[in-house]
Amino acid sequence: MKVGVLALQGDFREHLDMLHKCGVQAVEVRKPEQLAGLAGLIIPGGESTTIGRLADAHGLLPAIRERVGQGMGVFGTCAGLVLLAREIVGGTEIEGRPQPLLGFMDITAHRNAFGRQRESFEADLTVPALGPEPVRAVFIRAPFIAAAGPGVQVLAEWDGKIVLARQGRFLACAFHPELTDDPRLHRYFLERVLA
Ligand code: GLN
Repeated sequence: MKVGVLALQGDFREHLDMLHKCGVQAVEVRKPEQLAGLAGLIIPGGESTTIGRLADAHGLLPAIRERVGQGMGVFGTCAGLVLLAREIVGGTEIEGRPQPLLGFMDITAHRNAFGRQRESFEADLTVPALGPEPVRAVFIRAPFIAAAGPGVQVLAEWDGKIVLARQGRFLACAFHPELTDDPRLHRYFLERVLA
């Protein structure tokens, strides 16, 4: 199985390392042609405005939409969650236009939503889909999912806020699983979401 990581900005290297650890072929994606043959794509954490603007400038937004139409799955972490959302709260305008989104999931992402004093923190999350052992979640100026449509499966909440959700071939996570050495969420994407 070949999986790509959008490598325009943010912590894509850590995702590539995690994919290698899971034993799949992992490639950096910077150009539309690099999406060919991918079963899945990871959109990393970073700045959703920057990633969206660069993806737009490289012609990647229509190319990703086309590959998704052909069955590619997408896992968005943190800024990647924002890009997967259909709606956002706290979005930024870029040159007078709303920041670009892919909008594959019926969710509203609230950007930078945990507030200043807890902008970055770690927590032990209960994620029943990954087993009884809690997941150490690293939140860095993280969004949360403020609203989710009926087709969205909530996989974890923190402090009453949705921080991990799945809708069909799409997985969105508010924290940074690539910054720990626990590969369970990447495996879940590879073995359950892309299967
Ligand atoms: N606050 C960032 C954004 O909205 C996301 C932060 C992150 O990816 N760690 O783009």
